[in-house]
Amino acid sequence: MTARYDFIVVGGGIAGVSAAYELAAHGSVCLLEQERQLAYHTTGRSAAISMESYGNQQIRSLTCASRQFFENPPEGLAEHPLWAPRGALIVAQAARVDKLTKRFTAVLGQVPTAMFLDDKQVLELVPYLAETAWSAGIYEPSAFDLDVHGIHGAYLGGLRARGGVVKRETEVLRGEHRSGHWTLHTRNDQRLEAAIVVNAAGAWADEFAERCGVPKVGVRPLRRTILAVDPTCTTRGGEFICVSDSSIVAAASRLAASTGVFPEAGAASAYAGLLKYAEEHPDTAQTAVILITGSGLKDTSIFLSDSTRGQSRVPSHHVTAPLAEALT
Ligand SMILES: Cc1cc2nc3c(=O)[nH]c(=O)nc-3n(C[C@H](O)[C@H](O)[C@H](O)COP(=O)(O)OP(=O)(O)OC[C@H]3O[C@@H](n4cnc5c(N)ncnc54)[C@H](O)[C@@H]3O)c2cc1C
Repeated sequence: MTARYDFIVVGGGIAGVSAAYELAAHGSVCLLEQERQLAYHTTGRSAAISMESYGNQQIRSLTCASRQFFENPPEGLAEHPLWAPRGALIVAQAARVDKLTKRFTAVLGQVPTAMFLDDKQVLELVPYLAETAWSAGIYEPSAFDLDVHGIHGAYLGGLRARGGVVKRETEVLRGEHRSGHWTLHTRNDQRLEAAIVVNAAGAWADEFAERCGVPKVGVRPLRRTILAVDPTCTTRGGEFICVSDSSIVAAASRLAASTGVFPEAGAASAYAGLLKYAEEHPDTAQTAVILITGSGLKDTSIFLSDSTRGQSRVPSHHVTAPLAEALT
């Protein structure tokens, strides 16, 4: 049987749910996502900050235009604020100050609150930075944190409230355009039709275009690395523990099996660090608390081996244990 809609949106990340929500005001909408969880890919990995001084002119224009949405979300879309003040600083070493100065001139036209800081002002603002490493910075006091989960969830709830249909584990393998409408064929043998298909496939946008026989636009997925640290650690006399990638994966698997929590890499690293510390200090009587938050978007089963699948889980989002017990 073929299901028919006015619009089909392919991709359940932030682009897909927001487009689907807006379109649902104009006709019937079906949102398709290949994974079991929406927002499983890039959207679930965002560093969650809105910086108007970041990116090229087009990106900055889009970011600036978005501020209004966060400050005044559409009536009924979100019950809680979707943003929180933060501020952000881009720093440059001596050899790159010219480049930073050019960026500042370009940014100032769009972000009047941006400030150019010299080395002393940079250190004053962020005293944890290495004293001689940074020569200048662009400070954007109006940069703000995004509640990505909240934004995604608000759009998803709004889409459903407008009668939109959401299908997970529905990868589109092929699309054909005949007589003014699209027919999409999915891996789970569904056939769906719509006059308009929206490509919100993120890093797969070109691959999806190819599957539908339309020209690619040159979207190229690139690796992106974000390191989030608490710079106050050393100033309070703390110490750093280094952990390997494989121990982070092992810690993630262990957390998924024992608690049902899907740990983001940063959270799994904290647990891997605790395990390492406990191994190196077997006689310690200390008690450790690891608080893991923000795990709502993901499915833990990807971390579970066949042997750990189905084990009982404690219904808690935090694990408190003497260090020695963390190893058991
Ligand atoms: C590490 C990192 C940090 C970032 N930090 C920030 C930040 O601080 N601030 C900011 O504004 N932006 C940030 N970004 C960028 C931002 O996260 C992305 O621009 C945004 O999430 C992209 O959303 P999307 O919906 O286009 O893509 P995705 O979230 O990747 O969604 C695309 C979806 O399409 C699905 N899909 C693909 N092909 C098919 C198919 N054939 N059938 C069905 N489904 C399909 C995929 O499974 C995927 O879920 C960051 C990105 C990364 C990687």
